Amino acid sequence: MKIPKRLSPEEMEFLTQEYGVEFAQVYRAGSGKNGGGGYYELYSGVHNRVNIPLGEDVRLISHTHPCGTARPSPDDQLLMQLLEQSGSPQRKSQIVPVGKTPVYFDKNSLK
Ligand SMILES: [Zn+2]
Repeated sequence: MKIPKRLSPEEMEFLTQEYGVEFAQVYRAGSGKNGGGGYYELYSGVHNRVNIPLGEDVRLISHTHPCGTARPSPDDQLLMQLLEQSGSPQRKSQIVPVGKTPVYFDKNSLK
């Protein structure tokens, strides 16, 4: 669903704890410079996964890990690769693990 503003990691974590499922926040780029003029969307999934759309206008701002894992899954890395292939200029995204500090990852990072 479309949301009026970008949510903070704390807000993403709160939603995840409140509903017990994974959430993802996407920015849909607009026609302005560097994708300006777009809007934010929130996607909800199940306990360990959330699906987001692919496309050149998609920027995955963050997604949550309800279990608290502070590292990307192989699916997370594959998603960054698929976003790149679909024309999105984005290379890094944020994981918000419940109870831990948010971390950034890319298609290659396995920390
Ligand atoms: Zn993940």
